[in-house]
Amino acid sequence: MLKLSQTYVFFFLFIAVLNSCKEKSATNDSKTETEEELTQRALEIHKRVLTLDTHADTPLRMIEPGFDMAERHDPKETGSKVDYPRMIEGDLDAIFFAAFVAQDIRDDDGNTRAKALCLQMIDSIVASTENNADVVGLALNPDDAYALEKEGKRAIYIGIENGYPIGNDLSNVALYFEKGVRYITLVHSSNNDLADSATDPDGGEHGGISDFGAKVVGEMNRLGVMVDVSHGNDSVFYDAIKMSKAPIIASHSNARAVTNHERNMTDEMLALMAENGGVVQLTMLADYLREAPPNAARDSAMAALRANMKPIGEMTKEERTALRQSFQELNEKYPNPPATVEHVADHIDHIVKVAGIDHVGIGCDFDGGGGIEGVFDASEVMNITIELVKRGYTEEQIRKIWGGNLIRVFKEVQAIAEQIQSGEAS
Ligand SMILES: [Zn+2]
Repeated sequence: MLKLSQTYVFFFLFIAVLNSCKEKSATNDSKTETEEELTQRALEIHKRVLTLDTHADTPLRMIEPGFDMAERHDPKETGSKVDYPRMIEGDLDAIFFAAFVAQDIRDDDGNTRAKALCLQMIDSIVASTENNADVVGLALNPDDAYALEKEGKRAIYIGIENGYPIGNDLSNVALYFEKGVRYITLVHSSNNDLADSATDPDGGEHGGISDFGAKVVGEMNRLGVMVDVSHGNDSVFYDAIKMSKAPIIASHSNARAVTNHERNMTDEMLALMAENGGVVQLTMLADYLREAPPNAARDSAMAALRANMKPIGEMTKEERTALRQSFQELNEKYPNPPATVEHVADHIDHIVKVAGIDHVGIGCDFDGGGGIEGVFDASEVMNITIELVKRGYTEEQIRKIWGGNLIRVFKEVQAIAEQIQSGEAS
């Protein structure tokens, strides 16, 4: 009896040693690690680190009547890229939902409408977290993401894309902050009263950030709202670096040296971002990830479709579905080479080379045009981690990229706000 149990003990010890050797060779010696083992290791890393996506325009969906975040939507049929079931599938722990208001007329009426729409979106985000309190929670501070992750829930942060809903009333910044907004993208596709856009067909008009925009940046610093320079032209970036007392972010922008697009950042800007202590969040927009060969037939067909389009906010559900189908048909008729997760990693490699590992993150822009081959929606974000592991990134580096860097900036922004407020009080 004794002998038999001893044999068992030795046998189990032998198996244990064998297994530990196998694990060692899997983690330390990439030559003997099979593709399957690497994927498994990557998925485990993906599970362990906080995965935070800083940009999704999902509130545009949330305000659609009948759209339920608790339901899984078919991305091909509905065009939707984010809902709570798919965040769980992709093990995406935290996300910034951006209340996005497209730029329109810059007068009192326009500003009033923009503010109303922005508040409607913010309210819909908050309501969605309340209605799905078993799977998500509203997050207001950096550590909330980690606390919610421990509870097994997704953290939902709020941002605003386009400062247009601030109108010309500085007190709106505090109003949005009170409602939970923690970053504001100063400008969108065309100039507003705060700042110049990278893509306004008429070029800039303020030489970067306007006088009013500078006051908005000051107010954001005072309250602890992150300043987001994505969509701004290059002067907006340089102005924000000079004006902001806290580090800044680009919530969804890529590297211009890799893909030449005015929405992407030059090496000089990336280096300055590192000096500033800020962070550039990589985005999954095909045109910012790879250069497509010239395709005049496609361009003119797309332009014709856009010219006849009424604003998305004014469309019925049927009209939106029809528009999506038209775009899909054009894409099939005049296909562009796909953007892939390899392109994403090329941009990350470049930013790490120029700015360092502490200044890069992820902001997919799902539901705002983001979504590529391999990272089509929230359920596929683990493919970014797999590609990073393939390229030799360590768990600690991936932890920084997937949220650590953004959380560090967020904490600094809040610490500086406290300093400003205590200075005011004394
Ligand atoms: Zn955007």
